[in-house]
Amino acid sequence: MDIKYTSTRKNKKVSCVDSVLDGLSSDGGLYVPISIPKLDKSFEEMKNMNYQEVAKYVIGKYFTDFTTEEINNCVTKAYDEKFSKEEIVPLINFDKIGFLELYHGKTSAFKDMALSILPHFIVTSMEKSNLKNKILILTATSGDTGKAALEGFRDVEGTDIIVFYPEKGVSQVQERQMITQEGSNTFVVSIDGNFDDAQNGVKEAFNNYEFNSFMNGQGYQLSSANSINIGRLVPQIVYYVYGYLQLLKEEKVVVGEEINVVVPTGNFGNILAAYYAREMGIPIDRLICASNENNVLYDFFKTGVYDKNRELKLTISPSMDILISSNLERLLYEISGKNPELISNMMTELSDKGKYEVNDEMKKKLELFYGGYAKEEEVLETIKTFFNEKGYLMDTHTAVAYNVYEKYKKDTGDNKQTIIVSTASPFKFTRSVAESIGIDVNNKTDFELIGELSKKAKVYIPNNLKDIEKLPIKHNISCEKESMKEIIEKVLNVGE
Ligand SMILES: *Cc1c(COP(=O)(O)O)cnc(C)c1O
Repeated sequence: MDIKYTSTRKNKKVSCVDSVLDGLSSDGGLYVPISIPKLDKSFEEMKNMNYQEVAKYVIGKYFTDFTTEEINNCVTKAYDEKFSKEEIVPLINFDKIGFLELYHGKTSAFKDMALSILPHFIVTSMEKSNLKNKILILTATSGDTGKAALEGFRDVEGTDIIVFYPEKGVSQVQERQMITQEGSNTFVVSIDGNFDDAQNGVKEAFNNYEFNSFMNGQGYQLSSANSINIGRLVPQIVYYVYGYLQLLKEEKVVVGEEINVVVPTGNFGNILAAYYAREMGIPIDRLICASNENNVLYDFFKTGVYDKNRELKLTISPSMDILISSNLERLLYEISGKNPELISNMMTELSDKGKYEVNDEMKKKLELFYGGYAKEEEVLETIKTFFNEKGYLMDTHTAVAYNVYEKYKKDTGDNKQTIIVSTASPFKFTRSVAESIGIDVNNKTDFELIGELSKKAKVYIPNNLKDIEKLPIKHNISCEKESMKEIIEKVLNVGE
């Protein structure tokens, strides 16, 4: 099968190479496969594959204009000793639930899963399309994407990367990880706004024709490492396939038995990957979408109305502090029966009025999802209770997922085998995690708390977070949210 990509807002045909290089379609839409491929190997056949083998197989289904050798090469370079666990994503089982730990990469958050491989997709795509311009990666981050992208692209030839983060929206550890970033092609900028401002600024730069042609003239082609890039989405499908295979292997389920998946959700990338895995043939019954107090998605799944007209709250799960979940557009496209006009209209309403409503047919299809949310105090309580009862420590984002899972079970009585997606190391959000298990956090820096948390919970500190406060600071640029384009020109030294 020859997979081609199209836009969610306009019928067109694009190769995967071009969709990876563009990031976002020029009509403002997101690239989606014209049809989602099916798994064509039996579970018996797949069961004993290791992570890299599953990755090669699944990614090969989507990147049909890459040769097998090119795909193998990308996978081998991405999923190696950078990950501190040999199995890449361990599944930690407790009876009917398993935590799928996606945070053993270089920056201790699940963003590493995709951003370890995206630079290799981009370099391969550049070579295949004989691109002469440099690729400029522009990325907005709510904290975790930024660092993972910087690590992924650091010193990758033919690329520069600029990361924008909200000044007040990231944890101390997250900020320190970014501003100590090494690499001659990396730039980090804080903006005086929230994540949505950063994301809008980046989208605006992409959609601004004049700015793009100016940058082309300066030898740059813009691309994105945000989860809108299809090269981010595809590698995320892999771990859902792999997770199911682990359940089979450990005889938690039999072939074909359905499971539920709970995903702590922000931009809707991770849970969308679970939806794709389901479409490919992984027997998933419900997709449980867990939000924090920024519960736009919870309301959406309840009412069919997406309404971002509300204040963004800063929570202890900052990587989910988002009001516009960009990747939802890809789901809307699928459940609309692939209707780009309809999606285009809905997205116009979203940018004009801040809201839209889906039609009845689409509402019906949304029943596949269950939306829930966790309040701040519930998140802390969840971490504490689970730690006290089971000795297992989760971070604030994972705790949002676990809390919503408990609500789901109570609400529905459904007790199927369930995968809880675990998206960050507890050490990345040390203050809240430490506080929740009774460590006195007053007058202590996050860095001091890392050590205390490790002692009390008897968990090793990930290498990248050890001694992070001693690293030299390399970046200290800030800008107003309106002047992101100007700052891009300035840091790259182009223009007047
Ligand atoms: C990015 C992130 C999320 C949200 O993932 P989306 O794909 O944006 O929905 C959840 N938890 C952590 C720790 C993250 O970094």
